[in-house]
Amino acid sequence: MKTLVYSENTELSLQLLGKALQLSGVGVSVIAVGSTQAEALAKCGAKVYAVKDGATDVIRAALLKVITVESPDLVMVGSTKRGRELAPRVAAALNAGYSGDCYDIQPTDGGFTTRRLTYGGAVVATGTIKGKPVIVGVPARSFQKPEAQGTRGEIVELEITVPASRIRVVETRTKRAGDAGLENAKIIVSAGRGFKKREDLKLLEDLAAVLDAKMGCSRPVSADLGWMDQWVGISGKKVAPRLYVACGISGTIQHAAGIRDSQTIVSINIDESAGIHELSDYSIVGDIYAVLPALTRALRERTG
Ligand SMILES: Cc1cc2nc3c(=O)[nH]c(=O)nc-3n(C[C@H](O)[C@H](O)[C@H](O)COP(=O)(O)OP(=O)(O)OC[C@H]3O[C@@H](n4cnc5c(N)ncnc54)[C@H](O)[C@@H]3O)c2cc1C
Repeated sequence: MKTLVYSENTELSLQLLGKALQLSGVGVSVIAVGSTQAEALAKCGAKVYAVKDGATDVIRAALLKVITVESPDLVMVGSTKRGRELAPRVAAALNAGYSGDCYDIQPTDGGFTTRRLTYGGAVVATGTIKGKPVIVGVPARSFQKPEAQGTRGEIVELEITVPASRIRVVETRTKRAGDAGLENAKIIVSAGRGFKKREDLKLLEDLAAVLDAKMGCSRPVSADLGWMDQWVGISGKKVAPRLYVACGISGTIQHAAGIRDSQTIVSINIDESAGIHELSDYSIVGDIYAVLPALTRALRERTG
């Protein structure tokens, strides 16, 4: 069996490679952008097709070219923002079967069986895709990275030319401080609609400063009120910190789906019956306007 792998994120690409090596043994190819990524993947024994330009159209063309050359049975694309855009486009171009966000992939008669979470993580959807190639999107942390192999894989430089992009950049905006890097954050403090005014987020900022935490929020705080750029949940960022502190967040299924992998969840909510308390390891039933300053003060005293 032959497998082809791509993600612009090297860590995720290595995780996909781990699964590909387990499925295929040999016969694993990857597409890498630039020499650093190409080297990291070649060290693990994969045949690397290296392109210089990571633009979506270039990677799409590279995937189609390598699929023609290698004829893989399975193509795994990392489920990043870029990957979610790319993989269905490649599948459509080939009229191939596609399933996104698969955390498990097993070969089956004439195809692959995939598993993915749906309905906010409450249900596992199992599907079978037949044909060749089968194209799947795979989220981060679904599979283990491989050990470096004794034999270094070959690196093949791939020249790809695509027509000039029809996309025009109208404006570039810098992200606001405190919003970035949620996915890899060790500690996240998050705001919900329990905050009455934008200025009140200062209470959360103070707690974030003392815990050295990133700030997140529920969707309405970002998408409706526009107080932060990124929200946590099924339609936002999926996070897996050591500590997630949910402040004035009710804990709907859509929010819960994004915080499931947190090691410890602490909730602060005035309503004893709020769903977030059920998800939490530690619940504080109280008013964020009283609890947050007290918590920040206590932590400051402890850390000096
Ligand atoms: C297709 C779809 C996708 C969605 N995706 C997401 C997603 O990815 N992420 C997400 O978060 N949501 C998502 N939502 C929205 C989701 O359904 C909820 O509307 C949202 O999570 C609620 O946000 P919240 O908890 O901040 O607000 P609310 O549900 O209004 O909860 C506010 C909470 O604050 C508490 N509170 C109020 N005052 C205080 C106080 N002074 N002190 C302490 N607690 C207080 C209340 O008791 C309440 O529990 C999605 C919805 C849809 C339809």
